[in-house]
Amino acid sequence: MERKLDIIPVTEWGFFTLPRPMVIAGPCSAESEEQVLETARGLAAWGIHMFRAGIWKPRTHPGCFEGVGVTGLKWLKKVKEETGMKVCTEVANEKHVYECLKYGVDLLWIGARTSANPFLMQEIADALQDTDVPVLVKNPINPDLDLWIGALERLNRAGIKKLGVIHRGFSTTNSKPYRNAPGWKIAIELRAMFPNLPFFADPSHMGGSTLYLKELSQRAMDLGLEGLMIESHCNPAVALSDAKQQLTPPELRNLIESLVIREKDSVDKDYREGIEQLRTQIDYIDEDIIQEFGARMDVSRKIGAYKRDHNVAILQMSRWDEVMEGMKEKARMHGLSEKFIEAVFNAVHDESVRIQNEVLSGGPQA
Ligand code: PEP
Ligand code: MN
Repeated sequence: MERKLDIIPVTEWGFFTLPRPMVIAGPCSAESEEQVLETARGLAAWGIHMFRAGIWKPRTHPGCFEGVGVTGLKWLKKVKEETGMKVCTEVANEKHVYECLKYGVDLLWIGARTSANPFLMQEIADALQDTDVPVLVKNPINPDLDLWIGALERLNRAGIKKLGVIHRGFSTTNSKPYRNAPGWKIAIELRAMFPNLPFFADPSHMGGSTLYLKELSQRAMDLGLEGLMIESHCNPAVALSDAKQQLTPPELRNLIESLVIREKDSVDKDYREGIEQLRTQIDYIDEDIIQEFGARMDVSRKIGAYKRDHNVAILQMSRWDEVMEGMKEKARMHGLSEKFIEAVFNAVHDESVRIQNEVLSGGPQA
């Protein structure tokens, strides 16, 4: 089924302007009026126009700081009045939506735990019916593109046309060194399906540490995404949530100014930008493949140890022949040649046997 979204271009929303990146910045959480206003002043001072702050915080463990609630909306209102910035926050249910509408929040975003839940998405879409509030939808925590699209469709059907996405990475067991696995290929797929859908990346939640902000932000720009949502706190060391991943406003300015933005301004450049973006896509996919090979060989190492402990021979050709037949079948379904897949997986198998032998002979352990 062909998927369609009716989208108003992001440059017509009235908040975001070119050149890229369009930046949304502010603390993970609104903690106090002073912290909110000091951070906002620091960001407004060098040209940030959209301020973020979480008011209701979805925390993994109960008892952690879960946000200040409605009081924080009053502080956001002060940010608007004092700095002229627009403000946004996360909503996770209809009550949040009604409160935000009441306090004049300019843009809402849906968090990764909420976009994964169709019941909540429908509740939020119903609450937003007949409003004109722009909404950005973060990817669901699990790498499920259809769930992400479904969330967008629910909002779009409720009449929300100022609609966009935020890519914040996926929660997997294999996300090292990042907090959430970037899974760029899912973002690329979504981009290809809806080229007009405004696309932000959230390197803060993807990376989980200030260490990775630069490389992830640059990648988002190389992929041609419109914007970045980045966490910034006037004093990150004492932040009540996500302290490790927040930058001070001046640090954020340095980061944004260090990004290399390749824009198209002539036919020839058009071509170059196109080819560069395609090559970047390939680089990301290759990176994912390497990560998966790493995970694959970790399992081989465990199998080696298991066979060693149970006195079983490493090579069991009959199983491998069976596996290879299955691979060829899958390869056909993806339009890949049998010869290619045979060559790749024979190499994978050889490496796996080598690793298992290494374990058997007392080399690196599982
Ligand atoms: C946030 O942006 O503060 C947040 C909680 O993000 P996510 O939903 O991506 O975890
Ligand atoms: Mn956060």
